[in-house]
Amino acid sequence: MIAVRWAPSPTGRIHIGNARPALLNWFYARRNGGRYVLRMDDTDLARSTREFADGIEVDLAWLGVRSDLLVRQSERTALYDAARDRLIAAGRLYPCYETEDELDRRRKRARAMGKPPIYDRAALKLTDEDRARLEAEGRKPHWRFKLDGRPVQFEDLIKGSQTVNTASMSDPVLVREDGSYLYTLPSVVDDIDLGITHVIRGEDHVSNTGTQIEIFEALGGTVPTFAHHNLLTDAEGQGFSKRLGSQSITDFREAGYEPLAIAIMATLTGTSLSVEPYASLEDIAARLDFSMISHGPARFDPAELDTLNARLLHAMSYEQVLPRLAAVGLDNEALWLALRDNLVKFDDIVQWAMLVRGPVEPVVAEEDREFLATARELLPPEPWTDQTWGEWTNALKGATSRKGKPLFLPLRLALTGRHDGPELKSLLPLVGRKACLDRLP
Ligand code: GLU
Repeated sequence: MIAVRWAPSPTGRIHIGNARPALLNWFYARRNGGRYVLRMDDTDLARSTREFADGIEVDLAWLGVRSDLLVRQSERTALYDAARDRLIAAGRLYPCYETEDELDRRRKRARAMGKPPIYDRAALKLTDEDRARLEAEGRKPHWRFKLDGRPVQFEDLIKGSQTVNTASMSDPVLVREDGSYLYTLPSVVDDIDLGITHVIRGEDHVSNTGTQIEIFEALGGTVPTFAHHNLLTDAEGQGFSKRLGSQSITDFREAGYEPLAIAIMATLTGTSLSVEPYASLEDIAARLDFSMISHGPARFDPAELDTLNARLLHAMSYEQVLPRLAAVGLDNEALWLALRDNLVKFDDIVQWAMLVRGPVEPVVAEEDREFLATARELLPPEPWTDQTWGEWTNALKGATSRKGKPLFLPLRLALTGRHDGPELKSLLPLVGRKACLDRLP
């Protein structure tokens, strides 16, 4: 059974870059009939909050993802403690007493000598007496994982064969001085405990994967298959920040974008599958293959989002939007069909509907007064259909010498008060003869 997880840390509102792994995992689960776990990486008690975690759930549901299971790392400490004790017993986790200052000095010294600033494992040489003395001084240990220091090789489903040489890395700190856990160990413990078969995450985690594969092996767990995707950036190539709250999913929702538009932009930017109005998340899941994810950057373009959002709306049937139209008192199929091509966001319909229901401030140029008076006289009797506009303007063409823009624009300006907008052919029967007469001078 395939199982994936999306593991956000609830330290801010998720942004469109975070939506990428959220959805790529979900697509993978969908395609393979797998299970989707939402894992809150909330071991950093100082920065994680329940509000942010709840917000992530709301955002994920809005995007259309339903998880099969929700776990919070803050509730699973006993599992991490057990794993910590096993690693200590196996000699893979060792106590260190250096302060940040000491480590900083050592790193500087190493650099000055032209050596890589890797932790020198001095703590491994401490005797029992040394440790007792340090603890008597009031020092508390943090704990480092003893890396094998070897090339760790894995087959990445997106990036192909990868090698991370743990010999060039510092032994990672897994447990802080206060006993709390950094991300690295709980993630592995949970992946083992929850039977995660595929870890799909950003390529900023590739070197973590080297470390974590060693931890999986040290704990006797099955190493999952990894897939590291390119990260979404802004148009300038900068990453998004949860802390700064830039391009957050909540903001996009509140700005009135379609969740599907956000999902498509979040996942298909930087892939060879084109950004198009796909029918649903399932539709994308069925088409998007890891081989289509580019190895280069994925730049998010807000203008492309607007275009896509508009195209999604233009393709929506009346049935699809009926509840939303009813909510704004505009549940009329002809109205939807007449106006939808002008929408960039759904709520724009309220403004456009004013062209039908009024009030409209007619715009009449002095030189068009006579022409518009003729137009008024020639306005066909009701009932009106979408043929009426053609009949009327043909009659006007015959009665005046106007054609093209000088014929159409004064009519549009008088009837709608603006230069652009929905096709008058569809608009006219909705406006009706009486309102048209009111708007013509
Ligand atoms: N909490 C980690 C992050 O947000 C999870 C990484 C992972 O998927 O293992 O980057």
